[in-house]
Amino acid sequence: MVNNDLLVLHRYAGKLLLQKEVPFAVIPQNDFTKIPSIKRNLLYNQCQRCGNQKSSLFGVIPCASCSKTHLYCRNCVAMGRVMECESLYYYAGIAPDWTSYESPLTWNGELTPYQKEASHQLVQAIQESWKEFLIWAVCGAGKTEMLFQGIELGLKLGKRICIATPRADVVRELKPRIQQAFQDVPIQALYGGSEEKEGSSQIIIATTHQLLRFYKSFDIMIIDEIDAFPYHKDATLPFAVNRAKKTNSTTIYLTATPRKEHRLQIALKQLAHTYVPVRYHGKPLPVPQLKMSFSLKKELKWYNVPKAFLQWLRNRDNDKRQLLIFVPSILLAENIVSSLKKDSTIPFQVIDSVHSEDEQRMDKIEKFRRREIDLLVTTTILERGVTFPSVDVVVLDAGHSVFDEAALIQIAGRAGRSADDPTGEVIFLHDGKTDAMVKAIHSIKLMNKKGGFK
Ligand SMILES: [Zn+2]
Ligand SMILES: [Zn+2]
Repeated sequence: MVNNDLLVLHRYAGKLLLQKEVPFAVIPQNDFTKIPSIKRNLLYNQCQRCGNQKSSLFGVIPCASCSKTHLYCRNCVAMGRVMECESLYYYAGIAPDWTSYESPLTWNGELTPYQKEASHQLVQAIQESWKEFLIWAVCGAGKTEMLFQGIELGLKLGKRICIATPRADVVRELKPRIQQAFQDVPIQALYGGSEEKEGSSQIIIATTHQLLRFYKSFDIMIIDEIDAFPYHKDATLPFAVNRAKKTNSTTIYLTATPRKEHRLQIALKQLAHTYVPVRYHGKPLPVPQLKMSFSLKKELKWYNVPKAFLQWLRNRDNDKRQLLIFVPSILLAENIVSSLKKDSTIPFQVIDSVHSEDEQRMDKIEKFRRREIDLLVTTTILERGVTFPSVDVVVLDAGHSVFDEAALIQIAGRAGRSADDPTGEVIFLHDGKTDAMVKAIHSIKLMNKKGGFK
């Protein structure tokens, strides 16, 4: 029999466990429900943890524990191997009562009128248990603060809340901010390699991948950056999100750049939404400037610093700002840095690069934030979810296919984010205009118009 100690209960409630994660040699049947790990169908097999149906993502393994050769799922193997001969389990014992807090919100900042309106509607969505609600807020609108009153209401009602986001960097940035706003509420942050692993707190902040570990767990599911890679490309993630939600739950979507499906649903009035067209500091979004250069591709091929970039650099509006340069590949990020360092005309002391495979990535992002790095060359890993107070932004080779419309809008949204420096230059350096560039600029201007700017 399971120890009904509250902590033990909370540790397993709402989880989907591998056999080895169930902490009993003999699994108590009353408390854990067994489901097959891989379902064999006539036409395809399906992993019951991640939903994978692609035959190429199943491996065959001679198994030491059952002495047979059988399937395992390669798609979700990073979260522990799902073996065909071992069941999955979810806790089916007494569901824990989550705390109903009296006044959990310890944040006492002010919301702007636009934020207030969004926050008000979010509260209504939670109060009335709407199924879905989308907040379309421009980059720098201050969407985290807009969530506070909705989360507060959820906690008052004793609900369990998950904030899911595609990127570990964003989980790390969100955790202290949410914790600061709800100082007495236990919050855990889950991502690959996180210190906290248990996932037993009333508020969970997690990468969407970590949701594979949950089963009918959350009353309120907040999905940040719903449009972001890889949620819209990878069927695993919607599968995991759906299973992690309780049957009667409210799902909140946040986005600055909604994708077609959601825009269509909004247009057809099939999805309740609110629109926040103005940044929290009340200034318009910086509109990117296009700079055309025929020699760009050639210069970048040899990792030379493009002349058009140097020309802009000499004449920029405010040379106190740090510079964030986006490039399409890791190779270019690393190599262009050496050229920038060698160029004596570049007025920056500390120049560095960062990308997804950089082991010091967290450290470098922090250093840039503390102004210990003046010029940072990055791949798209910094396109969203990060805030630096005073930067100009340059995209080298903005015509490259990695820079789609949403990416370019998000990248432009890195400039002018603080009230102290609410503007910033955004330069798209290219050797031929693309649809993505034109659409991104059009969208940004449209948002500014909606926000009441000319
Ligand atoms: Zn799987
Ligand atoms: Zn086996």
